[in-house]
Amino acid sequence: MTEPRNAAIYARISSDPTGQALGISRQLEDCRRLAHERGWTVAEEYVDNDISAYSGKSRPAYHRMVSDIQAGARDAVIVYNLDRLTRRPVELEQFVEVCEGAGLRQLATVTADVDLGNDDGLFMARIFAAFAAKESGRKSERLRRKARQNAEAGKPGGGPNRPFGYEADKITVNPVEAELIQQIVRRVLAGESIRSIATWLDAERIPTSAGAEWRTSTVRMILKSPRIAGLRSHLGEVVGPAIWDPIITVEQRQQLLNVLAAKIATGRRTPRSYLLSGMLRCGKCGGRLFSSPREFERRYVCLSGPDHRGCGGVTVTAPPVEEWIAAAVLYRLDTPQMGDTLTGRLANDARHSELLEQLDRDQAKLTELAEMWADGEISRAEWKAAREPLDHRIKTTDRQLSQITGTTALEGIVGHGQELRERWDEMNLERQAAIVAAVLDHAVINPAVVKGGKFNPNRIVPVWNL
Ligand SMILES: [Zn+2]
Repeated sequence: MTEPRNAAIYARISSDPTGQALGISRQLEDCRRLAHERGWTVAEEYVDNDISAYSGKSRPAYHRMVSDIQAGARDAVIVYNLDRLTRRPVELEQFVEVCEGAGLRQLATVTADVDLGNDDGLFMARIFAAFAAKESGRKSERLRRKARQNAEAGKPGGGPNRPFGYEADKITVNPVEAELIQQIVRRVLAGESIRSIATWLDAERIPTSAGAEWRTSTVRMILKSPRIAGLRSHLGEVVGPAIWDPIITVEQRQQLLNVLAAKIATGRRTPRSYLLSGMLRCGKCGGRLFSSPREFERRYVCLSGPDHRGCGGVTVTAPPVEEWIAAAVLYRLDTPQMGDTLTGRLANDARHSELLEQLDRDQAKLTELAEMWADGEISRAEWKAAREPLDHRIKTTDRQLSQITGTTALEGIVGHGQELRERWDEMNLERQAAIVAAVLDHAVINPAVVKGGKFNPNRIVPVWNL
């Protein structure tokens, strides 16, 4: 075998709580020495810095090396140890396949040599890979145990965020924020709403610990967190006293939980009572209009405040807008171009079922991941990391699906505007809303030029989705 003239060195650093990780420089040094001893010429050094090869995160340098091998630009690979190269048996198989395809046979490690061109070498490599995979699994088990021990000892958890009320060490009480928390707790126990608290904090220009504006969910999270009562929780359960000082008492916390639970019980969701819920936008700020009844009057309103963040500048009485939009939708259903659109939409059906299949596959993968986590095959962090790209794709697919309004929503309504108009008042609100949503993407409502007076339909700018 001739001496390789275009060898690759691959090094990777991963987190290691035991502090025994081999630094990149040490790995590179040993690999270079090996190349020198063998008389191999190194063409490029590839270095990745990742937390764990198991997390599913991409390793850009590794992928660059693989494509260089595929292109025939590399004739040997040197790594410190096989567990630097791959962590999963399947990854090794893919790597071996690429090497075979490119005719690369020499894989040297500082600890052992692997000749990919013979069965014994391959066998050894597979054993190494299987072993490395097991090690990686053990490592996450170690991390899990460590997190649990930390929690039971009352020490703060990892996580990048500073909790409101405490300094960055998550132990020292921040006196200003602590006093705010005590004040908020008193006010909520006295019956003040979370919404009003959030509005007040913003008005006082007090930022969250992340420097952001307040949402009711943020206030609620702080109030519900065991931490402010000096308790440590782990995976959603209180496991004991914490090493930091409490800001409120455990008794106050109990009262608070009772009050918050009572609030949830009364805040039940009401059934749809507005035809155009979610379909109207503010002509001043572009935000969504929300149904907001006033005595005897149904209205759509641009709401300002912590949960809506609208401009508060547009209000419209509901009935005339609903009548106008319904009439426009029904008229539109009978126009000739609607018939053409329906024909065009049928062609979209193939794409539609393709997307549905994609969605099914991704959701099956999510289930599989959850099972792997439940079986202890992967850690929570690994589960989360693997889930992210799937979640992202599911969201994208969902969006694409909603853009291709399936013909099902239109069948039986296109060309039937006249009949539907006659039956309109007998239909329930859900059915009416479905018909409107099949045709209308949204409508912009512009502010009234003259306050009061008769409703001016020119304020409505419909945006049709077909
Ligand atoms: Zn607005």
